[in-house]
Amino acid sequence: MVLERIKFLRDELNKYSYNYYVLDNPLISDFEYDKLYKELEELEKQNPLFITPDSPTQRVGGISTGFQEVTHKYRLYSLDNTYNYEELRRWYERITKEFGNNVELVCELKIDGLAIALAYKNGSFVHGATRGNGIVGEEITQNLRTIKAIPLKLFEDADVEVRGEIYMPKSSFEKLNEENLKLGEKPFANPRNAAAGSLRQLDSSITAKRDLSMFTYTPIIERAKKQPKTHWDGIQYVKELGFKINPNIRLVKDIEGAVDFCKEWETKRFELDYATDGVVIKVNSLAYQNELGYTSRAPKWATAFKFPPEEISTTLKDIEIGIGKTGAVTPVAVLEPVNLAGSIVSRASLHNFDEIRRLDVRIGDRVLIKKAAEIIPKVIKVCDSAEHDNLPIYQVQGNCPSCGEPISEVEGEVNLYCLNPNCPAVLRAKLEYWVSKEAMDIESVGPSVIEKLYNLGLVAAPVDFYKLTIDDFLKLDLVKEKSATNMYNAIQASKQKPLSKFITALSIRNVGKETAELLVNEFPSLEDFKAASIERLAEIDGIGDKIARNIYEFFHNEHNLQTLEEFKNLGFDFSYTPAQKTDELAGKTFVLTGTLQSMTRDEASDIIKSKGGKTSSSVSKKTSYVVAGENPGSKLDKAQDLGVIILNEEEFKNLAGIE
Ligand code: NAD
Repeated sequence: MVLERIKFLRDELNKYSYNYYVLDNPLISDFEYDKLYKELEELEKQNPLFITPDSPTQRVGGISTGFQEVTHKYRLYSLDNTYNYEELRRWYERITKEFGNNVELVCELKIDGLAIALAYKNGSFVHGATRGNGIVGEEITQNLRTIKAIPLKLFEDADVEVRGEIYMPKSSFEKLNEENLKLGEKPFANPRNAAAGSLRQLDSSITAKRDLSMFTYTPIIERAKKQPKTHWDGIQYVKELGFKINPNIRLVKDIEGAVDFCKEWETKRFELDYATDGVVIKVNSLAYQNELGYTSRAPKWATAFKFPPEEISTTLKDIEIGIGKTGAVTPVAVLEPVNLAGSIVSRASLHNFDEIRRLDVRIGDRVLIKKAAEIIPKVIKVCDSAEHDNLPIYQVQGNCPSCGEPISEVEGEVNLYCLNPNCPAVLRAKLEYWVSKEAMDIESVGPSVIEKLYNLGLVAAPVDFYKLTIDDFLKLDLVKEKSATNMYNAIQASKQKPLSKFITALSIRNVGKETAELLVNEFPSLEDFKAASIERLAEIDGIGDKIARNIYEFFHNEHNLQTLEEFKNLGFDFSYTPAQKTDELAGKTFVLTGTLQSMTRDEASDIIKSKGGKTSSSVSKKTSYVVAGENPGSKLDKAQDLGVIILNEEEFKNLAGIE
């Protein structure tokens, strides 16, 4: 029985490892892999006679073919890991038993990329290899030479070997996947796979085109001016030699300091532009490290605390159809509830029907879902299973589940649409969007109030909100004089909101907050862009032909024009006060990173926009300034790499002319 289970786990894990390391195509989440791995490790511990050399517990990684194999001068180990703080404390107890209390530790982010080893002779980069199975790796020197964060010459004439992680920034990964999809190629499952795939190109000119970078985390100093005695000093030294190290590193005096670091980064990690799946905790003293040594696959002087999983697999129970404010029909996955990154998830996005076809998702499948902070979980792939082929292929429904009208394709759009302007689901979605924060921001009128108003026939379109009287609100259950007055006043006050909010609230297809801001910056009044041609609209930087056509069509639709007239008669004046442009900020592009003390990033962004500047989420050569708050992310590194001007909060406030 036990032997059978061991064999089963071994085969399963080997299959998953092969797909993960060799094919760069993981079949299950890391969390699930680690769970099976721990079970095997435990069973083998209790039954050591059953351990075989091909067990995944006896080795690390895998080697793919296509490159020359090289034997590493120093073996590259894996890391033991845990998902809980108690185990972390027990690991530390074992260490303090040997060396006494207060053994210093270094905490580093565990970068979710690909481990490599680089060798330098007399200060020059001589060769580099992947980790492979830890003993033998693949020689990929040519490809590594294309990565700008890898120095070809050090600032000192030293002999060193370093290990580090090659990674692809999340923003570059998303861009690469978009391009791959356009070319009809398969997208990468995550930034780690994208980095691995890009690095293992036989043609190094392809690697050169991919945005790869590297953080160095292990220095082995063979011959140099200094011979550090601690890991911390070693890291500082390799920084001096010219290597890029992750700025989010901390020296702590005991395990509680490390636990604090882990807790801090459990949420802050989402602000980074690179993936990190945990924290690596290392004993600082190199003498202690030597004494502690290694198990067959990992150092005893280091361990990884892994963050709660962002990915997990579950069963797809059904696909429901949602209807959005523009009539877009969106399939939603109904899932067997699972705990993902600390919350129970029972629904996930499937984007559109093309995505269902691309993933070949079928009801009853086991699917991998993923969540990043504040983003609705999404189905990213179907897990390999024998049942999949026997399940019926998903058929797109032909009619709107709300109004029963046929669902239509719209030229140039991937989404399908319910084009019935009176579809109750579309009307309700438009009303809900109207009051949302992004649009008119009428907080006191929530979805349940809207539902009641709609059911009583008091509102069918946003313009009806402005015709409501206090008495109308009093017709709703449980609504008393005070809240009726509040809702009435909030609606009336929203007439004074900026024109860009009004444009956003109109639910024009593909026109969100950003586009609405571009429009009002370009045209002084609603009348002006009502009169603009498609060509004129498409001239605006950031507005393409498709969006220009949608805007044009919206403002040339008789019904919409009548509604705008109604808004005007109800007291909207549609005047627009152009942004107060200052020479310093006008036309400049800003990227914000880290935490600001006197304002949120959204507030800083509003200030920039109000003064004629723009904000962007990624740093490029076109960025004018990077504003760096506390604990900045990799955007700061990129700004340094590209020579972009970096401002601290005070400097930013001075530039913007604010107190
Ligand atoms: P690991 O990724 O858990 O930890 C070791 C690696 O961490 C090192 O090799 C190095 O690449 C990396 N690392 C990142 N930052 C570091 C830092 N600051 N200091 C030191 N190392 C750092 O171990 P592994 O052996 O590379 O892979 C095993 C893990 O891979 C498993 O625990 C599992 O989560 C995942 N895996 C998943 C599947 C799957 O199908 N999903 C299959 C195989 C393995």
